[in-house]
Amino acid sequence: FSYPMPANEPVLSYAPGSPEKKRLKEVLAELKNTQADIPMYIGAEEVRSGKKVALRPPHETAHTLGHFHAGDASHVTKAIDAALAARESWSNLSWENRANIFLKAADLIATKYRPYMNGTTMLGQSKNAYQAEIDSACELIDFLRFNVHFLSEIYRQQPISAPGIHNRLEFRPLEGFVLAVTPFNFTAIGGNLPTSAAMCGNVVVWKPANTQVYAAQMFMRILKEAGLPDGVINLIYVDGPTIGSVCFSHRDFAGVHFTGSTGVFNNMWETIGKNMHNYKSYPRIVGETGGKDFVLAHKSADPKVLATALLRGAFEYQGQKCSAASRAYIPSNIAEEVKKLLVDGINSFKMGTVEDFTNFINAVIDEKSFDKIKSYIDNAKNDANASVLVGGNCDKTKGYYIQPTVIEAKDPNYVTMCEEIFGPVLTIHVYDAEQFEKALELVDNTSPYALTGSIIAQDRYAVELATNKLRNAAGNFYINDKPTGAVVGQQPFGGARASGTNDKAGSILNLYRWLSARTIKETF
Ligand code: GLU
Repeated sequence: FSYPMPANEPVLSYAPGSPEKKRLKEVLAELKNTQADIPMYIGAEEVRSGKKVALRPPHETAHTLGHFHAGDASHVTKAIDAALAARESWSNLSWENRANIFLKAADLIATKYRPYMNGTTMLGQSKNAYQAEIDSACELIDFLRFNVHFLSEIYRQQPISAPGIHNRLEFRPLEGFVLAVTPFNFTAIGGNLPTSAAMCGNVVVWKPANTQVYAAQMFMRILKEAGLPDGVINLIYVDGPTIGSVCFSHRDFAGVHFTGSTGVFNNMWETIGKNMHNYKSYPRIVGETGGKDFVLAHKSADPKVLATALLRGAFEYQGQKCSAASRAYIPSNIAEEVKKLLVDGINSFKMGTVEDFTNFINAVIDEKSFDKIKSYIDNAKNDANASVLVGGNCDKTKGYYIQPTVIEAKDPNYVTMCEEIFGPVLTIHVYDAEQFEKALELVDNTSPYALTGSIIAQDRYAVELATNKLRNAAGNFYINDKPTGAVVGQQPFGGARASGTNDKAGSILNLYRWLSARTIKETF
C-alpha cells in the first residue's frame, strides 16, 4: 500500500461573508452555550474520575466551557495496561488498514469537524480564527496525510538480495508503549505526537497540557470515529511528575515523544537514564523544546521586509510559538525607520476576544504565563540597560491580556535577549551597521537554543555568510522571512542544542524514531 505525496490542505480565509466564517461562528456559539463534561479515554472506557477541572477561555476568564476529569497514578497504570493489551492486534494489523484510519481522521477534520477543531482551539487556547485554521485544521490534517506518505516510503526501503539469498527489512514498532506529552500552543502538535508513533504500529499513552485538553479530546473523538481501535491511544489528564514516575519506571516504557520546555525534557532524560536497567530496550527520547529565535538584519535589508518579519514572527499567537522571533539584531543605518514601523504596526493591532474576528492579538494562555511575561516587562522598565519602545501594558481583569511589547536592549546580553519568555515580547538590539561579523557572533553565542532564525538581507554575500556562520544556530533557517510558520512537507521542523533532538516533525526523519527494524535473511 503506497500513498503518494499529498498536497497541503488549503487555508480557508474566514473573510467577512464567507460560508466558513458563518459556520465557525455558529459552532463557537454552540460551544460557548454547552458545558462540556470531558472524560479520559482509556482502552474502551470513558473515565470520569470526579476530580473536575474547569475549562475557561484565557481571553474571558469569567466564562466556563465545562470541565475535564483529571486522573492520578492509578489512571496512568490503567492507560499503560490498556495500551499493552492493544499492542499485539494493533502491531499486526496490515499497514493499509492502519493508514486508512488516519487518512479518514484527516478527511473528517477537513470536511466535517473543521469548525469544531478550530472552535475548541480558539476558545481553549485563545487563538484567532486564522491561527486556529493553520494549526488545528491545516497542519493537523497535513501531519496525518504526510506521515502516511512518509511511512509508505519507509516501508518500501528494502535491502538488496544475492544469488541464493533473499533479504528483507521488517519495520517493527517498538516493543512496549510510547508516551506522548504535548504542549498547549499547537493543537496540531497535540495530534501529531501520539499519531506519528501509533501509525508505525506503536501503542501510546497521551498526556496533553491541561490548557490543551479542550481541543485534544475533540481530536480523540475524531480518531475514534475514524475507527482507531480501543487502547491504541489512551488520553489521560494527569500531572507531569505522576506520569513520569509511573511511565519511566515501567519495564515496557519504549519511548517518549515530547514537545515542551527544555527544563522538563532535561528532567525526563535524567529520570529515564536512572531507570535504564529497568527497561527491555533502550527507549527512544524525542523532544522539541525551547527557543530564543533570532532575526538578524544586514545593512542591505529592506526595512519593510524586516518589520513584517518581526511583527508577524514575534506577535502572532501572542508570541507563544517555540519558533517566535524574540531577539532581533538591527543595523544602525535602518534602525530608526524600522523602530517607527514597529511602533506603528503595534499601535494598529487590535487586541481582544477570539469571537471578534478583527482582533489580531488575543490573551496569553494562563495566569502563570501572564505573571512571568509581565515580570520581564516590568524589569525592563526599571533597568538602565533596556527601555520599552512600545507596548508594555498588562491587564488580567477580564482575561490574560499583554500588549505586544518591544524592548530595546543596549546590552546585547540583556536578560530578554537570552532567556525564552514565550509571550508577546520582542527585544531588539541595534548594532553598528559596519560590524556584521560581530553581529553574527552575537547571534550564535547569546542563547543556548538553536530552533529557528532568520537573515534579512538583499546582499547575496551577506545571505551566504550568515547561512554558513549560523550553521548550528538554528534547525530552521529562513532567508527574508519570519522564523515561524513551518509547513508540513515543506519545512521539516526542529532544532538542536537546547532546542531538542531535532527529529524534524512533519518529515520522514521523525518516523524512523518510532520503528525498530528487523533484518531477515533467507538462504534458498
Ligand atoms: N512549527 C511551528 C512553527 O513553525 C512552531 C511549533 C512550536 O511552537 O512548537 O511556527
